Amino acid sequence: MIVVRSLEAFLQERNKLEGQSLALVPTMGALHEGHLALVKKAKEVADYCIVTVFVNPLQFDQQDDFLRYPKVEEDDIRLLEQNGVDLVWFPEVEDIYPTGFATHIVVDGPALLWEGSIRKGHFSGVATVVYRLFSLIKPQFACFGEKDWQQVQVIRQMVQDLLLPVSLVNVPIVREKDGLAKSSRNRFLSLEERERASFLYEMLQKTYERLQKGEIITQTLQTAIQALEDKGFNVDYFTAVDGFTLQEVSEWKSNSRLITAAKLGSVRLLDNM
Ligand code: AMP
Repeated sequence: MIVVRSLEAFLQERNKLEGQSLALVPTMGALHEGHLALVKKAKEVADYCIVTVFVNPLQFDQQDDFLRYPKVEEDDIRLLEQNGVDLVWFPEVEDIYPTGFATHIVVDGPALLWEGSIRKGHFSGVATVVYRLFSLIKPQFACFGEKDWQQVQVIRQMVQDLLLPVSLVNVPIVREKDGLAKSSRNRFLSLEERERASFLYEMLQKTYERLQKGEIITQTLQTAIQALEDKGFNVDYFTAVDGFTLQEVSEWKSNSRLITAAKLGSVRLLDNM
């Protein structure tokens, strides 16, 4: 596996790859089996798999969340090597946002709701970094996890609207044995919180089943939110939306999605079904 850091070193390697199909897996590091499922998919769809590890300052609205984002480069390199990645690039902030950088992608539609309304500027930051990575790397494929359902829809819309020459590949959520969605932030849960955390998945599952059976949405959601609050979760939202537009729905359909964000202690958990 090739490990590069500077933009110059990356471009040198990229130049050697003409004629091969490339799949990009953009990450922020602290890798786990969720990321590795993306790698596996990337290797299936393309000849060459590139992973980027970049904690994108633009997508954090809370400075302390950015500063405490876990950095475990050596572990990441070992995992990627073991999983057959061809190249990993750790860009410098200056490579992605050179001095004088002044252009940001404005995203509307699915980006305005939920995470977009709670974390101001978050999806603009995500779209801008993804656009930059696509421009620099020019992959034919890019893999994203359904763990971040809304992010998948925002990027899908951007690729469609800006006619970006890349095929998006979405990968289902990878979960712990008890159902908790794997996340780099789970390590910040205390032992006791970690045990309680799977209740979020349990409520998603129960609610999903009830909605599939045709129970009334508002009441079913209210029951779930109350149960979560009773368990000590601080629920930002737990709701049923159209899977593409992210608009709330009043009737459960085959393309509906349950999405949630809830805080347990200091850790904000994101999940969907
Ligand atoms: P992150 O490093 O958190 O920015 O995530 C990088 C990519 O991995 C994103 O496309 C995420 O949606 C995806 N990802 C993170 N956790 C999971 C998971 N548990 N299952 C599937 N994909 C995931």
